[in-house]
Amino acid sequence: MSRFMCLRVPSRGLARSSGVKMWMRPGRATTGLRPYASTAPEPAVKKSLGEILASAIKTTGPISLAAYMRQCLTNPESGYYINKDPFGAGGDFITSPEISQMFGELVGIWVLTQWMAVSKPDESRLIELGPGRGTLMADMLKAFQSFGYFNHTVKEICLVEASPTLREMQHKLLCGEEPLEETEYGHKSRTKYGQLISWYMDLKTVPKDDCAPFIIAHEFFDALPIHQFEHTQHGWRELLVDYSVPKVETPLSLPNQTTSIGPEVAKFHLTVPAYATASSRVIPSSSERYKKLPIHSKIEVSPESWDVALEIAKRIQETDELGRVVNAGSALIVDYGPADTIPVDSLRAIKQHHIVSPFEEPGAADLSADVDFVALKEVARKEAGVDVHGPVEQGDWLHTLGIGARATVLANKQTTQEGKDRIAKAYNRLVERSGGAMGKVYKVMAFTPKGSPVPVGFGGEVVE
Ligand code: SAH
Repeated sequence: MSRFMCLRVPSRGLARSSGVKMWMRPGRATTGLRPYASTAPEPAVKKSLGEILASAIKTTGPISLAAYMRQCLTNPESGYYINKDPFGAGGDFITSPEISQMFGELVGIWVLTQWMAVSKPDESRLIELGPGRGTLMADMLKAFQSFGYFNHTVKEICLVEASPTLREMQHKLLCGEEPLEETEYGHKSRTKYGQLISWYMDLKTVPKDDCAPFIIAHEFFDALPIHQFEHTQHGWRELLVDYSVPKVETPLSLPNQTTSIGPEVAKFHLTVPAYATASSRVIPSSSERYKKLPIHSKIEVSPESWDVALEIAKRIQETDELGRVVNAGSALIVDYGPADTIPVDSLRAIKQHHIVSPFEEPGAADLSADVDFVALKEVARKEAGVDVHGPVEQGDWLHTLGIGARATVLANKQTTQEGKDRIAKAYNRLVERSGGAMGKVYKVMAFTPKGSPVPVGFGGEVVE
């Protein structure tokens, strides 16, 4: 099995309820391209995203991979998630919360243990970045009903979600018939349990008022745009997306992504420019990890991810004017990527269960990349001074949180063999390690306030 087949996994009949994962990966709809001001009437035939990008590249020159990724995913007219229904059989990937309720429940239990670890604050705020269908949050909230003393402290649930379609789905799942109202920053409603729930475009706009934040990011970072760089004899160069007849092979070594020189037709492809870009001057020299790499090394870097990680870290360790920590919280990041190395050539595009070229048809495939856990760790530790735990493998983390016992309880409640088998299958899928399965490839990392107890799942015990 290719190492990519375990990520953005096809449902294999394991998804809960509908059997398919509804999948969408919007990013911020910034383009990196110069907008065209036009007063001309709308053209009768709508241009495809490929045509728009090709003409922009012809005008401005090659664009960064990050700009290309954002366009492909969230171009407001033709981005992958905007124009097609990602929830049908054509978009069937599956993520851990969609495999079993056990995942969300255990994340909920972890949040509870962290609430205890940070001295049981009177008011807390649950924040989730990129909640997808809202399943993880729904399972957490359900689990919290058994822990009234904590549940009563939850003042607000905040979902950071760029996609209007997904917001609607999250609202339906979490709030039922409760109306959805517009707010200054997004929307608000009440959950089925009566809690205030709000939607935001950006974590930075989520309020901070006297509430301990507990922040979850499950498969959020892998959707954020990346830059690729190559260390050449002339210094670092940023790989750019061009639209032309390729003169050399695209320097991307993923399956099905060879672009050997064929007929003389223009296409999207990566190119290594002879010149340095603003990003290639600044980013590779920003960390010792990159500086020491030899000539011909390639790296993937996501400054947008650094920014989000820093914002998370600052929030869970907010300080007052005397430098004392106020509103101490915790954060949990679950995603895939190497635990201790820099991602290389991990950009992948998936369409209808298959890995395809990210350059074939812009906007037609889901794009994602490995998360650089070390980079997130560095930014959180060095720039926000928080403690970082992990990353540990998902399988280990779930075992420590008690997935074995929970699976047994759920299986015993099943009245049919089919039901028992379903629980066993879901359990295995979440914790399995062999062949690059989810239990190994997915990693879990936590941010906690400096000096607070080591969290459960990372070597610590429950703090009473
Ligand atoms: N956490 C869910 C969904 C993961 S898919 C799960 O594991 O099942 C990624 C999620 O992040 C989607 O909800 C997507 O809409 C959201 N997203 C991606 N980029 C975003 C951005 N820049 N701002 C806000 N939400 C974003």
